[in-house]
Amino acid sequence: MDFVYAIPMRNRFRGITLREGVLLRGAAGWGEFCPFADYSDAESAPWLAAAVEASEVGWPAPVRDRVEVNTTVPVVAPERARELVAASGCRTAKVKVADPRSSIVDDCDRVAAVRDALGPAGAIRVDANTAWDVDTAVKAIRELERAAGGLEYVEQPCPSVEELAAVRRQVDVRIAADESIRRAEDPLKVAVAGAADVAVIKVSPLGGVRRALEVAEACGLPCVVSSAVETSVGLAAGLALAGALPTLDFACGLGTRSLLTGDVTSASLSPVDGYLPVLRTAPEPDVAQGFAADDATHAAWLDRLARVRAL
Ligand SMILES: [Mg+2]
Repeated sequence: MDFVYAIPMRNRFRGITLREGVLLRGAAGWGEFCPFADYSDAESAPWLAAAVEASEVGWPAPVRDRVEVNTTVPVVAPERARELVAASGCRTAKVKVADPRSSIVDDCDRVAAVRDALGPAGAIRVDANTAWDVDTAVKAIRELERAAGGLEYVEQPCPSVEELAAVRRQVDVRIAADESIRRAEDPLKVAVAGAADVAVIKVSPLGGVRRALEVAEACGLPCVVSSAVETSVGLAAGLALAGALPTLDFACGLGTRSLLTGDVTSASLSPVDGYLPVLRTAPEPDVAQGFAADDATHAAWLDRLARVRAL
């Protein structure tokens, strides 16, 4: 029995205002299949593998029972950024920067407000989502570092591995690779090229918890587990990965439940005091029903699921 959901986002994120996907039920529990709308069927195949692992196989045993997470600050005004961070209870904040709708001055004002909310002991990381070229990145990173009073790392400042390596040679801040890590061979390239200090890994694009653990081992870098902004069903897979990694040096990007206006269960995986428990979750029919997709969306997702299954 598959359930198709459509949940409005609290703020525009990755250009979308509505998060959609399918929850799959199998012998081991529930999995979530939710590739973004612009992903091809081929790109969506690992997402299905991850959902099938979750629903049919289950996950390796965790080595920790809770995971520290960061709060995520979207492209919002400084005052709103301050409120979001203060309300989160997290000690680490990830701030989206380099959005086409905001300038470097706006970005600096936003990270300064985040520092104000976190205090000197908090950690601030920024995510540019491949937006800069090398020279722009080096200049922006220096300005942001000053405004933030220190950065934990800069996530994917430029598109290519070669550009990441070039930026990394010119700044003192750690560089994290996210978009560059999507297939098993890429993390090796990232490490060999000296392109990053940290690897951001996600269960769905890598094809499941087991595959992601292999990628983490192969790249040999400290890893940060991030979500793909799933419901609590999908977040549980990220927590299974973060729970099973041999070492975990940084807060993970799994505190994303609040980016959605609702969830498929009342037992949402929302951080308490900056931590999430390593737990499985299942949808609650009464709660999930409130976010059931309309008939056309439902049909479109089942069609997409069937096409990706047939690959
Ligand atoms: Mg990122």
